Amino acid sequence: MSFQRIAVIGLGLLGGSVGLAIKAHLPGATTTGYDADPATRARAAERGLVDQICDTAADAVKDAELVVLCVPVGAMAAAAKELAGTLPADALVSDVGSSKQSVAKALAEALPGHAIIPAHPVAGTERSGPDAGFASLFQQRWCILTPPEDADPAKLAALSAFWEALGARVEVMDAAHHDLVLAVTSHLPHLIAYTIVGTASDLEGVTEGEVIKYSAGGFRDFTRIAASDPTMWRDVFLANKDAVLEMLQRFTEDLTALQRAIRIGDGDQLFEHFTRTRAIRRSIIELGQDDARPDFGRSDHGQS
Ligand code: NAP
Repeated sequence: MSFQRIAVIGLGLLGGSVGLAIKAHLPGATTTGYDADPATRARAAERGLVDQICDTAADAVKDAELVVLCVPVGAMAAAAKELAGTLPADALVSDVGSSKQSVAKALAEALPGHAIIPAHPVAGTERSGPDAGFASLFQQRWCILTPPEDADPAKLAALSAFWEALGARVEVMDAAHHDLVLAVTSHLPHLIAYTIVGTASDLEGVTEGEVIKYSAGGFRDFTRIAASDPTMWRDVFLANKDAVLEMLQRFTEDLTALQRAIRIGDGDQLFEHFTRTRAIRRSIIELGQDDARPDFGRSDHGQS
C-alpha cells in the first residue's frame, strides 16, 4: 500500500516542505493543497508547492488517500472539521503537529470513525509561511509516529514508508511519551530562548546596540530560536502544558543547583556539569543530527 493522492492542509513551512519533498521523492504521487490564507494559496501556487491549489479544504481532500494537516496545533480541530464532509471513508488522516496527545484528541473528536495516525517530523527552522518550505527539510531527521492502539498496521506501514521516502527516519512512540521527550528537547529550549532574549533586551544599562554588537557571545544562537513563529509556539505551550510544566520544574531545580555552585565557588561541580553537557553535543554530532564544524559551520566565526 502506498499513497498516490495526497492532500496537504496548511501551506507554510511544514506544508510547503511536505509538498516539495513529495514532488522530489514521490514523482508518481499527485498533491492537492489548501491554506486558510488566500495570499498563502496564491504564493503556494506560484512556488508550485503542490500540484493543485484548492479554494476549500473540502475540495482538497475529496479524492485523497492521505491527508497531512500542517496547521498550527491550535487550529487542528477547526481544519479537520472543515474537511470532514468530503473526506473519503478509507483515507488516512495524519499531521505534523509538535505536540501529539492534544492533536490526537482533537482529530479523533472532529473525524469520528476515520483512520488517524498523528505524526511529528522533528525538523524545522525559525521561518514560517509559504516561502519558507524546502524539499530537503526532512532529510536524515526523525519523524515520530504516534498511532492509536487500534491503528491499521497496513496504514501505519504506509505512513512510515511515506516519511522514509521523504528522507526521514521513522520512530513509533506513545503520544504521552512523545510529549514528554519533546518538552525537554524542543519546547523547554524554546521557552528558555524566548526568556533570555526578552530579558536581555529588557535589561537596563545594556543598550540594544550592545546586545546586537556582542551577540556572538552565545546570545545570537538563542535569538535564532526566539525568532520562531509566535502562533505555532503559543499553541505548542498551551497544548503540551503538563509536560512543559513538569520539565520546567526540573529545569528550575537544576538551575538553582548551578546558581548555588557559582555562589559557593564550587568549581568542581560546574566543571563536571559542563563536561557532561559537552559530551551530549558530541553524541548529537555523531548521530548526524548537527554540523560538526565550529559555530555550526558559519563562515564568520564568533566568539564563544
Ligand atoms: P506556518 O508556516 O505558519 O504554516 C501554517 C499555515 O497553516 C499558515 O499558512 C496558516 O495560515 C495555515 N492555517 C491556519 N489555520 C488553518 C486552517 N484551519 N486551515 C488551513 N490552513 C490553516 O507554520 P509551520 O511552521 O508550517 O507549522 C505547521 C505545523 O507544523 C504546526 O502544527 C507545528 O507545530 C508543526 N511543526 C513546526 C515545526 C517548525 O519548526 N516550524 C517543526 C515541526 C512541526 P495563517 O497564517 O493565515 O494562520
